[in-house]
Amino acid sequence: MKVAKHKVVSIDYKLTDDDGETIDSSEGMDPLTYLHGEGNIIPGLENALDDKSVGEQLNVSVSPADGYGERDDKLVHAVPREQFGDESDIEVGMRFRVPTENDEELVVAVVDVKDDAITVDGNHDLAGMTLHFDVTVREIRDATEEEIAHGHAHVGGDHD
Ligand code: ZN
Repeated sequence: MKVAKHKVVSIDYKLTDDDGETIDSSEGMDPLTYLHGEGNIIPGLENALDDKSVGEQLNVSVSPADGYGERDDKLVHAVPREQFGDESDIEVGMRFRVPTENDEELVVAVVDVKDDAITVDGNHDLAGMTLHFDVTVREIRDATEEEIAHGHAHVGGDHD
């Protein structure tokens, strides 16, 4: 069996930056399991996994355009503190979900705190970065009808 649309694929992976520093890894955890062909992982990695078999190992470098996008300075805003309502202990690094104009949610991170204003950054942490993946395919199976209908894999009865 090969990786293709509507296969459920499990991979072990290590993600490093341009300096070889590890950003994320499945080492010591369960493999990452996802439904292929539905955009559940970044396009650069999903495309590279197409047609691969169990046991295959690949090294993929993903540009920002095929990863989490370029950094967008327009997503960095200073927000008047009163918009945070009663929240008094806001610190750099905290994350909030905020609604966007088209009814989606954006996760923003607090990057600066002043008495009257809080600066938030809506860029993904990995935006603007070239991502280097070291991936091994561990398992491939057919997706169930329910998984295809939902557009994601169901792992161990979990439903995220
Ligand atoms: Zn589901």
